[in-house]
Parts: sequence; structure tokens; C-alpha cells
Amino acid sequence: MLKLSFAILALCVSSVFSTPVKKRALAAIYSSCIKDNDVALTFDDGPYIYEQDISDTLTQYGAKGTFFVNGDNWACIYDPDMASQVVHAYNAGHQFGSHTWQHQDLSTLSWDNVHDQMWRTEQALQKIIGVSPAFMRPPYGNYNDNVRAAAANRNQSLVLWDFDSGDSTGSSVSQSEQAYTNLLNTWPDNILPLNHETYETTAHDILPWLLQQLNDRGYNMVTLATCLGKSPYKKEGTTYQPSPRDNSWVCGSTNSK
Ligand SMILES: [Zn+2]
Repeated sequence: MLKLSFAILALCVSSVFSTPVKKRALAAIYSSCIKDNDVALTFDDGPYIYEQDISDTLTQYGAKGTFFVNGDNWACIYDPDMASQVVHAYNAGHQFGSHTWQHQDLSTLSWDNVHDQMWRTEQALQKIIGVSPAFMRPPYGNYNDNVRAAAANRNQSLVLWDFDSGDSTGSSVSQSEQAYTNLLNTWPDNILPLNHETYETTAHDILPWLLQQLNDRGYNMVTLATCLGKSPYKKEGTTYQPSPRDNSWVCGSTNSK
């Protein structure tokens, strides 16, 4: 009898401890392209005044790029000039991802505030170009499980990079070009470089030089989604349509949702 009690007790204890704890799903994190010979040029922190120039230079070289935009950082995404640059680049076939609303360090924010930073930028892209991004690049590359769970909840993957041009950390044009040259001389299979669309030198000096170098070496300059073999935008059974401008197209405290 005692033996049986122990057996029952053991069974109960083991069943309690073997009950799987329901884990939150965590978003996938990509930091490199998957396909050989692909280069996915990414441009963060816009939209800003050079976005249309970057889009046109990419197009001139037969290249596609990816813009990870904020809503309210260097400029407000709803400003008529900014919104029209986003439309221009989107219509040229470039990809848009989210860099969240105000470029805050998501790893320091609460669950609700992480969602708020994500949601506002997604809503802006839905209104301006009628898409909801499937990829989010966390500002500063900083994330934790809270951020990954929030992104998974929103059907998004996280994207980092495997090469930093240094444009946002003080590199001169020649230093950035030398860093790219050093990288290219190793003949990498593919590259996922971080650039920032907010620097004139990135838009007007480094980019045309880089595109020529990549062309000469036979790389395909593609969107992030293409180099990962994934869809660039969420498919939630909803087809978003760009909306006409209304009084919700503002940044700041009045843009409450
Ligand atoms: Zn950034």
C-alpha cells in the first residue's frame, strides 16, 4: 500500500513537472542573406530628404534596396514630402520594413510600449503605401525576448545586418569605401549591409560608388525579402489600400493609434 502511494505520488509529481510550460513564440532573427550572390542593401532611419535620390540611384543601376523607416525620427513620415518619397521608392520596387516609430531602444520598453512603437509605423505604411511590413529592424540592433515575442505576435521577423558601413558612427566616405573594399576583397557569398538614408554622403557619394563595385563583381542587388526567399509584407487575409490623407496623418501626441 505504501509502495502504491509512493508510486501514485511519483506519478503526480512527474506529471506536474512534465507538463510543458507554454512558451511565448519568439520572432525569427535574420542577420544574413541566404542566397548566394545576393546583396541586400538596407537604409535605416528615414524617411528623409535623400530617399528619392537613393531610390533613383538604385534604379539606375538595376538594383533594389530596402528601407527600414521610422515614423517620427529625422522627419515625420506623414509630412507630405516624406510620404511622397516613400510612395516614389515603393513604386520603384524597393522594399519597406519597420524601424519602429521613434527609434527607441525596444529592449528597455514594456510590452505595451514595444507594441505601440511597432504599431504606429505599421499603420503609417498601411496608410501611405498600403502594405504592412513583415520585417522589423530593432533600433540600435537591441532586442530581448519581450521584443521578439511582440514581433512574433505581430507576424514579424527581426532583421539585423552582417556589415556596417559606419556612416552613422562617424566614418568618412573614404573610410566607408575602404571598409566595403576590404569586405568585397574577401568575395563573400552574400552581404546584408547596414547604411543610413539620412546622410548625404551615403546617398550621393558612397551609394553610386558601391553599386558600381557590386555590379563589377557580378552581385545581384536585391531586396531583403528576395535574399531571404520570404514575403516582404504580412499576409493576414487583409489587403491594405493606401488611404487618402486625413487629419490622422500627423506625428506627435495627436497621433494616438
Ligand atoms: Zn536606426
